[in-house]
Order: sequence, then structure tokens, then C-alpha cells
Amino acid sequence: MSFSDGTRSVHAGLPAPEVGRPFLPGPVFAAPYHLDPVTGPGEHGYARTEQPTREALEVAIGELEGGPALAFASGQAAITAFLLSVVKAGDKVALPADGYFPVRAFARGALADLGVESVLVPTAGPYPDLSGLRLVLLETPANPGLDVADIRALADAAHAAGALLAVDNTAATPLGQNPLALGADVVVASGTKALTGHSDLLLGYVAARDPELLAKVENWRKLTGGVPGAFDCWLAHRSIATMDLRLARQSQNAAAIAELLVGRSDVTGVRWPGLADDPSYEIAREQMRRIPGIVAFDLGSAERVARFLEAAELVFAATSFGGVHTTADRRAQFGDDTPPGFVRFSCGIEDTADLVADVTRALDASK
Ligand SMILES: *Cc1c(COP(=O)(O)O)cnc(C)c1O
Repeated sequence: MSFSDGTRSVHAGLPAPEVGRPFLPGPVFAAPYHLDPVTGPGEHGYARTEQPTREALEVAIGELEGGPALAFASGQAAITAFLLSVVKAGDKVALPADGYFPVRAFARGALADLGVESVLVPTAGPYPDLSGLRLVLLETPANPGLDVADIRALADAAHAAGALLAVDNTAATPLGQNPLALGADVVVASGTKALTGHSDLLLGYVAARDPELLAKVENWRKLTGGVPGAFDCWLAHRSIATMDLRLARQSQNAAAIAELLVGRSDVTGVRWPGLADDPSYEIAREQMRRIPGIVAFDLGSAERVARFLEAAELVFAATSFGGVHTTADRRAQFGDDTPPGFVRFSCGIEDTADLVADVTRALDASK
């Protein structure tokens, strides 16, 4: 029987029921395990290579993404492990020009040093001729600008050119879209954000359709060691159970906040792919099952953003996004190439009316 998102997230990765055992087994804390003195390594020998709490989380993520997954210590660990395990000197890769900026920094530094050339392409296009590329990495919706790329069309174009198509699914989450089902070869993501949603851990993952490709990434992880710890894996798995509920409220709050913002003359550049006149609306509606709780807008200056954040009771100044608390981040403070008053606003799970009232009050007070 096939189930819907809420059911799938609450049951994802759970072992078969056992009387007297918890639904989700607790974290197993071990580096080495007992070995059979005669036969040697069995199911679990050393936790960098195999770890039961991590494996249960990977089953959960794999079920939701629709392809086997490997967990990493952070999103950056996952993305860089994927890139380094598939590219070699002389390869050319396409990366989002407007995506998570540490990925571009990694390409400019480590990848360039290895002799890998990267081409930066805006998420909304236009996309260049993809021939000669080893891989195309999309980030959709892109963080922080929220443009959306057509995964199916770009997977077809990449495959026709002999390139791999990978998608950073951080903002959407596997309940928002399933890139593997849309034709992507690989999904990379940060689980630090909406996937786990409590702003209390770092996590990343790589999921792939081709087991051989994933085996390369696994070998890379084994030899470089960027694995998440048992407790973080357990917290993440525990948190995935409420993902459907969290995302539903976040998305509902984002719809209300976006509507409030577009109605105000003192806020510009409002972007939310669920707004009917947003440039990303059509393609988002086609390929996404739900729109994330992130809204982007411009308050004109760093000073106004500061006044807004000071006046708001329910909006914490913080980077990252996708958590249960509403947060706002002025990206330019991190050297992102966004305007000084640009805000990435991440809706939490507060009551919608409270949040709208608080943001209205804070916008008025900050004028
Ligand atoms: C946060 C983020 C990452 C990096 O994830 P970490 O868990 O912070 O390492 C990668 N991609 C996107 C789109 C992100 O938002």
C-alpha cells in the first residue's frame, strides 16, 4: 500500500515492531564493536564505516527521497564528498551562480586547484549548451533568491550531453519535491534546515539512483571520515517524524507573510514561489508538492533590517532556515552578493495570525 507524506514521514526508516522495544531505537554509541574472534568483521565493526543509528536514518531519508542515501556530518560535507568522488582533473562542472555561496567558494578554491573548471549558471537560466560538462548541479529553489529550475528539462538536457544532473534539495526537502523521480541522478542536501527543523544539529546527505555511483561516494566517506555522530542521527530521525506537520505550518505562514509583504509599499523584491505572479510560480507548481516556508524581500538598508529585527518579538535574528522558530537573516552580513537590505525570512511554526501581527508591527516600527 502506498501512503501520503504525513504517514511516510512518521514511519520513515522505523524497524519492524518488536515487543518491549521502542518504535525508534535509541542511539548506539560505539566506535568499535565486539568482533567475532573467529570470523572477524560482521555487520558492524567500526562506526566510521557502518553505524546502526546512522543506517536507520539513511533508510528514512532514502524512503522519502526515493533512492538510497548516505548521511554526512553536514550539508557541505555531503556536497563536497559528492563532487570530489565524481570529478577529476580536466572535468568541467556547472554550478548555480545564485545558490549556497560556500559551494562556489569550494569550486573557486579546492576544485580549481584540482584542475576542475566550474561554470556558474543562474538558477532561472538561461542555461548554456551542456556538452563537455561532467555534471550539472542545480539548487532549486535557490538559497537565498528562491528562483526555481526545471529539473526534468535540465535532466534531459544533461543526459543528452552525457553529464550527470544533481539537485541540492535543501530548501524543498523530499516532501517538497523528489528530484530523483524527476530525472535527476543525484540529490545532495543539508539536513540541518527544514528536514530536521529544530536548529539543533548539522547533517547532510547524498542520495542517488545508481548504486555504483553511491558506492563511490560511500567509499569516499569511509576514507575521508565526514560522518555524523550517533546522537545527531537519532535526533534527526526523531525529527523527521514531524516534518509533514512542520512544513505545512511553515508553508501556510509563508503564504500569509508573502501576501502581507506584497501589499506594503515599504517592502520591495518580495519572492515566494507560491505567489501567483512570482517568476518561479509556474515551474514550482509543476514540480513541487509544497512551497517552502522561506520568503525573500528587501527592506532597503541594513539599518532598517536591524530596526525590524529589534522591534519583532517572534522573529529571531539568525542564519540558517527551516526551523520551528521564525528567523530572519540579512545575507549581506556574510558577504553573500545580495543587497544590504535583503532579508531571507524563514517562517517557523508559530500561529499564523500571531506571526502576521508581529511582522506588521515590526515593519511599521522600523519605518
Ligand atoms: C545550508 C545549506 C548547505 C550547507 O549545509 P550545512 O549543513 O550548513 O553544511 C548547502 N546547500 C544549501 C542550499 C543550504 O541552504
